Amino acid sequence: PAIVAPARDAPAKDPQPLTEKQLMRQKRDNLRRESALLPISSAESIIIDQIRKHQVVVLVGETGSGKTTQVPQYLLRAEFGKTGVIAVTQPRRVAAITLAQRVSEEVGTRLGHRVGYSIRFDECSSPGTRIKFMTDGMLLREFLSDADLTKYSVIVLDEAHERTVRTDLLFGLLHQILARRADLRVVVMSATIDAERFSAFFGGPSRCPILFVEGRQHQVVQYFLEQPTGDYIDAALVAVMQLHVDEAPGDILVFMPGQEEIESLEKMLIEQSRLLPANFPLQLLPLPLYAALPPSQQVLVFQPAPAGVRKVIISTNVAETSVTINGIRYVVDTGFVKQRIFDPATGVERLESLPVSKAAARQRTGRAGREAPGKAYRLFTEESYHKNLAENTVPEILRTNLASVVLQMKAIGIDAIHTFPLIDRPPLGALKNAFEHLYALGCLSDSAHLTPLGRKMASFPLDPMLAKALITCGAAEPPAGGSGASADAWTRALASVAPELRSHVSGIVAMLSVENVFHTPLEAREKANRARRRLAAASGDHVTLLNVLRSFGAAGARNARKWADDNFVNARSIAQANDIELQLARVCEHAGLGVIHPTTAAAGYREFNRAAAGSSAGRSAGFGALAGVSDVPSAARSVAMLNGSAVGDNPSPEAADLLRALLSGLFQNTALLEKDGVYRTTISRQRVFIHPSSVLFGKSPPPRCLMFSELVETKKTYVKTVSEIDPAWLAEVAPKYFGRLSPSTASSQGDDGDASTTPRK
Ligand code: ADP
Ligand code: MG
Repeated sequence: PAIVAPARDAPAKDPQPLTEKQLMRQKRDNLRRESALLPISSAESIIIDQIRKHQVVVLVGETGSGKTTQVPQYLLRAEFGKTGVIAVTQPRRVAAITLAQRVSEEVGTRLGHRVGYSIRFDECSSPGTRIKFMTDGMLLREFLSDADLTKYSVIVLDEAHERTVRTDLLFGLLHQILARRADLRVVVMSATIDAERFSAFFGGPSRCPILFVEGRQHQVVQYFLEQPTGDYIDAALVAVMQLHVDEAPGDILVFMPGQEEIESLEKMLIEQSRLLPANFPLQLLPLPLYAALPPSQQVLVFQPAPAGVRKVIISTNVAETSVTINGIRYVVDTGFVKQRIFDPATGVERLESLPVSKAAARQRTGRAGREAPGKAYRLFTEESYHKNLAENTVPEILRTNLASVVLQMKAIGIDAIHTFPLIDRPPLGALKNAFEHLYALGCLSDSAHLTPLGRKMASFPLDPMLAKALITCGAAEPPAGGSGASADAWTRALASVAPELRSHVSGIVAMLSVENVFHTPLEAREKANRARRRLAAASGDHVTLLNVLRSFGAAGARNARKWADDNFVNARSIAQANDIELQLARVCEHAGLGVIHPTTAAAGYREFNRAAAGSSAGRSAGFGALAGVSDVPSAARSVAMLNGSAVGDNPSPEAADLLRALLSGLFQNTALLEKDGVYRTTISRQRVFIHPSSVLFGKSPPPRCLMFSELVETKKTYVKTVSEIDPAWLAEVAPKYFGRLSPSTASSQGDDGDASTTPRK
């Protein structure tokens, strides 16, 4: 009976045509019949009863048992929506969106009405929203404006077992709020049974009971590789095709570390399935699932396959526990996951594909046995499983760059970070690193209090380095705890930054926030490279990214797609960057940095620093070459032009302004060319090389000084997304840091580690 929700769930004055509403109701009723069969549904009254009696409850249940989709609705039915919003946090954006979509269908209203979501750069809710799925990062932001979270009646901390640094922080913050707000309820949900630590954190079982939901799990037969593989994409391809040919109908779920690998496998599968005999009874339908995928495509993975079609869902580890897709019978697990790794020795964070833990591998395997017995192909050896995989995933707070976390904590008003309640304390070295990084950026004063700049930076949903670049655009450093007058002068300086400059900096920042801008199909590599050279800016990759974004915009909505295809860039990524740029314009305006009109930006677009003569000649030369002459000399010619006169030493003033502005945030990511012809980073003196994907790769003579956005470690350490900068700028944009590095010292080609280039710590 509890399943039949009262009619008040439907909005009374919804101005939609009746038919749509009727359709929604019909769908809702079907879904409710389905959800009544979930393992959790018999526990509704117990769960609600415990939540009424205790401020905090831990709920543990097998993945797919219905925790995430059902508990918020139970809370709604129990009228927790009357006194505030029910927030459900998710570590991942994709999960927040797809779950909000699903629950809004189950509730029977349009997405964004009673059920909505809130993720970085995308808010989908209204004043009437009662259940809000949000990333843990977004809830953390709410503390900036409302320290007691008064808008909320219940906070559901979902996927707590993932132990993201943001969820961990929410644990601590909620711990503090609960003491002040007797009415607030917290529900901690976890897919694994190690829930005692959560309960202990909130005062033990008498104050925070643990509830278990029985799951149903069928047997899954596991297969390991006999020999380790060097190429897991290829191994996945073989595994999927073998399953497809040999096994009974049922969908396949493939775990891949990231978008790039997912897209490769998707393409390979499409090609391979064409080779199947025409009368093969099952059609193969690959469907990707990753964060940057537009929501309209994310929902496709949940739609049941029509008869005669086998879905192959190729997913990041969002499908490990966050979302459940019905119909999966087979799992293919590469055993890899993308993780942010912070290296305290170098102070640089990087994204890496790493082996999963045993616990994660078991979860992934389990996804094959939710509805019936299944099979799991693990693309590693049994020996490696036992020997090389860690028991559990290390909580993120123990391995991440804490700079943006510390900045947010400071902005929320947590000054005593060492006494802040945390399930696991980060290593002291990592905290010290974060403080040093923020101090260098000018966010923290000598007494470790937030500066006016730091306060502004905290309101940007960006890495602190990029936030600073966008705010200051290279304007003079703010006074550290300085007088009111100098603070005013600083504010005026910020407001007087040319809107065009800030707009272009925000364009670059937006492009840096998306993945996989370029794609280089194997079969058209030379063509793609040529296209890339046409877009290349002499100064390097940052301005090149801006060229891509602006050219895409200038192509106009109708031609953008074709332009993207012709130039071998990923339209999806650039459209996303476009979106992000619009959001950033709003944040800037809100932060008092003046109005940016993205349209002005597009209209005022000129190609930066592309050495006008060289580039137009390059274009005709390129096409001429296509018609007759072989590709190689034409390529060589383009490179020569790129490296020619207008390049490098003397970048046009516009590009120089842009790079200088970026450097005001990224100055800690710089490297100088040393006598031995190798670059060393200015801070940690690590040997680095320009990544082959950079437009500066192989440039002669090599730039003296580099600014970079990424470090990638393979056999060597590469800097990726790199621009050439004038070493003299370092002391200008970061005098505190490079003050003693006089331009003359810097230009005298490197040194042997004497104190003059060693930044102050
Ligand atoms: P848990 O949180 O316990 O892992 P969920 O509440 O996420 O479980 O899932 C319960 C059920 O809801 C599953 O059967 C799942 O297939 C279904 N479901 C969840 N999200 C979606 C969606 N976006 N589309 C279709 N079905 C979904
Ligand atoms: Mg869940």
